[in-house]
Amino acid sequence: MIIVLKPGCSDAQIQHVIDRIEELGFTPHVSRGAARTIIGVIGSDEMKLESQPLQAIDGVERVVPILKPYKLASREFNHEADSVVEVKNVRIGGGHLGMIAGPCAIESEERLMKIAAAVREAGANILRGGAFKPRTSPYSFQGLGEEGLRILRRVGDRHGMPVVTEVMDPRQVDLVNQYTDMFQIGARNMQNFDLLKEVGKCRRPVLLKRGMSATVKDLLMSAEYVMAQGNLKVVLCERGVRSFEDSTRNMMDISAVPNCKGLSHLPIIVDPSHATGRPDLIPAMSLAGIAAGADGVHIEVHDCPEEALSDGPQALLPVRYAQLMDQIRKLAELMNKSIDVAEEVAV
Ligand code: PEP
Ligand code: MN
Repeated sequence: MIIVLKPGCSDAQIQHVIDRIEELGFTPHVSRGAARTIIGVIGSDEMKLESQPLQAIDGVERVVPILKPYKLASREFNHEADSVVEVKNVRIGGGHLGMIAGPCAIESEERLMKIAAAVREAGANILRGGAFKPRTSPYSFQGLGEEGLRILRRVGDRHGMPVVTEVMDPRQVDLVNQYTDMFQIGARNMQNFDLLKEVGKCRRPVLLKRGMSATVKDLLMSAEYVMAQGNLKVVLCERGVRSFEDSTRNMMDISAVPNCKGLSHLPIIVDPSHATGRPDLIPAMSLAGIAAGADGVHIEVHDCPEEALSDGPQALLPVRYAQLMDQIRKLAELMNKSIDVAEEVAV
């Protein structure tokens, strides 16, 4: 259930509600908005709570049961505003677009420096790069591991960009946590529930990619796994689902964007790189995603796709990325959205 507090409620009143919920043996999830605070109370024994006269507590406006199977992720939990997830100084959601760009895999420091400089110059505000790669073939490049994480950190810092990288295994969470600003949960791991719980225990933002055969409800249930551990900083990502169409890598489900927005307060971005697998389709699908209300775009960029160690065929050249960013900025203005700029760095 959700306990909606009155606007202007004092800290003491909020604390009193929290204490009462804890006394009853539940864990409160507090969300402090600009206008008002709401407290989510989730548990397997919600019936016990429903019999309590919580409306009678001073400062409580109303108590609303959540009927959806996902609770903290549901729109009801934060119906007044879209959540904004901050990745260091970069906001995603609530009118702010996260522009995530970089190579599929971290290949070398020199190469990542070059790509990062180009995408930052074009207006990207978060740098991506995989150090642990979930490859279909065990013989394909698996990533540089910890050395890749070190490179990503150095390059991100050098360019004033927060970084996002994939974590594939619960046992890697502590290690990746030392280097990254945002965890990526890949499509293949969207329902790795132990992994979701582990990143949920951290307080770092999570980019949660939709599984290739996952429904929107499955995606929101996975977000719930992370949030139930106390980490509310989840950004959803539509990256295409499997279909019978074989001229694109996957089928980008643009309707998932407004669909998720109706069902959830969480930000959602699109990844036209993995959704289409085709650089020629990335610009149109990026713009379509933003027009549908996406809170950002995730794009793989490589300066020499023919040399890329993974996902080369879908990589966008930096010059094309810069052209696309020009278009995205125009669309963003039309839609009243802003794009945070990566921090200035002293050279
Ligand atoms: C990636 O971002 O490089 C990746 C492997 O994405 P996905 O999990 O969406 O396939
Ligand atoms: Mn990739």
